[in-house]
Amino acid sequence: MILAVEKKDFQSLFDALSSENYQIIGPAVDNSAMIYDEISGVDGLPVGYTDEQDGGKYRLVKSDREAYFDYVVGQHTWKRYLYPPDKKLFDLKLKGNGFEVIDNKHEIPKRAFIGMRACEIEAIRVQDMILLDGPYKDADYEKCRRNIFIVAVNCARPGGTCFCTSMGTGPKAKNGFDLAITEVFEDNDHYFLIESGTKSGENIMKNVKGREAGEKQIQAAERIMKEAEGRMGRKLETEGIKELLYRNFENPRWDEVANRCLSCGNCTLVCPTCFCVNIKDISGLEGDSAQRLRKWDSCFTLAHSYIYGGSVRTSAKSRYRQWLTHKLASWIDQFGMSGCVGCGRCITWCPVGIDITEEARAIRESERKGKVSASNEE
Ligand code: SF4
Ligand code: SF4
Repeated sequence: MILAVEKKDFQSLFDALSSENYQIIGPAVDNSAMIYDEISGVDGLPVGYTDEQDGGKYRLVKSDREAYFDYVVGQHTWKRYLYPPDKKLFDLKLKGNGFEVIDNKHEIPKRAFIGMRACEIEAIRVQDMILLDGPYKDADYEKCRRNIFIVAVNCARPGGTCFCTSMGTGPKAKNGFDLAITEVFEDNDHYFLIESGTKSGENIMKNVKGREAGEKQIQAAERIMKEAEGRMGRKLETEGIKELLYRNFENPRWDEVANRCLSCGNCTLVCPTCFCVNIKDISGLEGDSAQRLRKWDSCFTLAHSYIYGGSVRTSAKSRYRQWLTHKLASWIDQFGMSGCVGCGRCITWCPVGIDITEEARAIRESERKGKVSASNEE
């Protein structure tokens, strides 16, 4: 069943989740950007905001309407709750002639993620493949992952750097959610269509105030999704992309992009699918304790590819090439899917505006031109 919920009753969704003891995490404004944080209800949502995004550019601005979800993704990703950026794995304490390991066990709350976009649900599927379903299961990720309730929001206004349509991941959430919301403005009416995707979703819906959506309302929501598909800020041609990138290991475009790349690692830190971490051991000053920490890492650092005697990827060129080729090509060989879901964050948050879609296009174009000039020479 699809429920039509009037704006005045939207809080009942938050109340239903709170009564089931979910900690609610959703979009909030911080430092002039949209982040994910704990919110108590509708009042915590950034109502009436939208975002302007382009290569190296992000602005949260007032929208032309009092929409609840007119912005897309910011620099935060949901993985900060499932696979935190900074985590203590355990403490060690000196005990007699040996040491004691103190596990960093803590309660993980049941969490409801409100406002997750279709591309972000797909990003969780990518991380599940690595951290849950692969040969090296991450026990902590599993605990966090099993405890979440996903309330997706279908994107009505894609951002300037979005290309989920090219990656087949959005703008409408097709699965992987407990509830999915489409916000509708139509004929001076402002309401939400809420669809359940799981049994838990259905149970929550029983306590949400609304009525069964009519055909006209469902068609209005479909129209919004159709329009959104046509308004993506970016495009990426994915046909044969794996082979294209494997063939172009020595393309001069890698030198050109390396001249601009600062190796800052922003693109990896904002990416919802990147999963590389570094393990650090820190000893206490008195020599009777130590900690093991896990921190997000980036393949753009020199140390990331350090193998005894030196780093494998010593140049910005080799690091950018490995990052883009991993995302769009070798990830497919490794995990059977693309490592990019088209969220556009790496474009927006790159300080020099390097654009993954533009780089892939330039490589494709250079190959096309090469073929044309070769055939002209014949
Ligand atoms: S590579 Fe860029 S566009 Fe693709 S999922 Fe990561 S941040 Fe998003
Ligand atoms: S591509 Fe951009 S964000 Fe990524 S490391 Fe280079 S300069 Fe930083």
